[in-house]
Amino acid sequence: MVISEKFKIYSEVFEVFLMKDIVRDGDPVLRKQAPKVKFPLSKEDKQLAHDLMEYLEVSQNPELCEKYKLRAGVGLAAPQVGVSEMMASVLVPNEDENESDTPLFKDVIINPVIVSSSVQRGALTEGEGCLSVDKDIPGYVPRAARITLRYTDVDGKDHKIRLKNYPAIVCQHEIDHLHGVLFYDHINKDNPFTKSDDEIFIY
Ligand SMILES: [Zn+2]
Repeated sequence: MVISEKFKIYSEVFEVFLMKDIVRDGDPVLRKQAPKVKFPLSKEDKQLAHDLMEYLEVSQNPELCEKYKLRAGVGLAAPQVGVSEMMASVLVPNEDENESDTPLFKDVIINPVIVSSSVQRGALTEGEGCLSVDKDIPGYVPRAARITLRYTDVDGKDHKIRLKNYPAIVCQHEIDHLHGVLFYDHINKDNPFTKSDDEIFIY
């Protein structure tokens, strides 16, 4: 049986995080303020950064996602694998088929800080989900529609970038994890689907 090259590469070196490695809601590590990561990165932190991104890459490959019984993810924060550190991987694929090799955003963000947020708020129409939260919690999660993000990458290089729409939402979700916040904390308990006039929908 023919298998793709990609599959072969992965299956030879496989040590990806599996769902059993992902910490679920209720574990105190998800509610802790994560301390900053020190540079230069330790060997362990480099490996962690690699593994966090690898999970996203593998989980976004439909064949491997199914094989390893993963939930596809666009972001994974260190506390979600039990490590309380300010590090998260983000991989937002490009839905445009012609540009599917160029993700909308891909990096491991270390010690990220949102330096400014738009007044304009936005929420995903279908709400949000989280690899650490097994049940579906419906409701809008209002966030800033645009952010300016400062972070350091695995090589110690500082970045200051502007993000809007879906990548901005994903980064805010992941950065929340580093401060002990989960997406459903933002849902209006009484009216989960209320949207104020100044909020836009993000697809
Ligand atoms: Zn999450």
